[in-house]
Amino acid sequence: MSGIVLKSIEEIELMRESALIVSKTLGLLAGAIKPGVTTLELDKLAYEFIKDQGAEPGFLGLYDFPNTLCVSPNSQVVHGIPNPEPLKEGDILSVDCGALKNDYYGDHAYTFAVGEIAPETEKLLQVTKASLYKGIAAFQVNNRMGDLGYAIQNHCEKEGYGVVRELVGHGLGKTMHEGPEVPNYGKRGRGKKFLNGMVLAIEPMINMGTHRIKQLKDGWTILTADGKPSAHFEHDVALINGRPELLSTFEYIYQELGISSEEEFPFRSQPLDL
Ligand code: MG
Ligand code: MG
Repeated sequence: MSGIVLKSIEEIELMRESALIVSKTLGLLAGAIKPGVTTLELDKLAYEFIKDQGAEPGFLGLYDFPNTLCVSPNSQVVHGIPNPEPLKEGDILSVDCGALKNDYYGDHAYTFAVGEIAPETEKLLQVTKASLYKGIAAFQVNNRMGDLGYAIQNHCEKEGYGVVRELVGHGLGKTMHEGPEVPNYGKRGRGKKFLNGMVLAIEPMINMGTHRIKQLKDGWTILTADGKPSAHFEHDVALINGRPELLSTFEYIYQELGISSEEEFPFRSQPLDL
């Protein structure tokens, strides 16, 4: 991972454009994720949509990853590879997507329900997403990385969930993974100080059971050690005037799914022009 690169307001606006291409891609996928659909079909939809936006898929070829999307159903945590197996009613599917435009990356993720899911799984999704906003709220000048990690960890562990240790969020910019590392756990008042111009991909990866993980022989797919489900939500966030500013949005997903939410309001300095 390269060092920390602070961004100007102009650069942050370019990064917003890249982030929103990913947001729109996830919105498109929200309408397509149903029982019977394959993750390979979703991958093709995403590839074509990103190209239509004049952007490049951010993950395709990165560290030799073979596809546009990372798709991680059920007990898979992250980095799953699209395949021809149909999704089933009751599955959950974490979709992580990257886009590169104007030399800047967007990188964000959402865990979708496939049809009706069990109430305990729904709770895992809601708690994980809420923890993302707890982390974002802690991304403020005068705070440190440990405050952000603590906010996520505390919110999830009080529900008895496992916070993955080996995989972390990251700085984002002209490279997909820059400094600083953004752990989803930490101690208050510890770690790097936040500075205006930082852009972070904040991404809790939260397991219903143990925090421990293992990797498949494909060299990519990470899954929970106990086989219980895992959720992953990610936003791209810039620090401007001391406060977190969301560059990505889940609103395209919510439009598609008929969900109304005010969760992003505290983190926008301007209304979203959908
Ligand atoms: Mg991601
Ligand atoms: Mg990321």
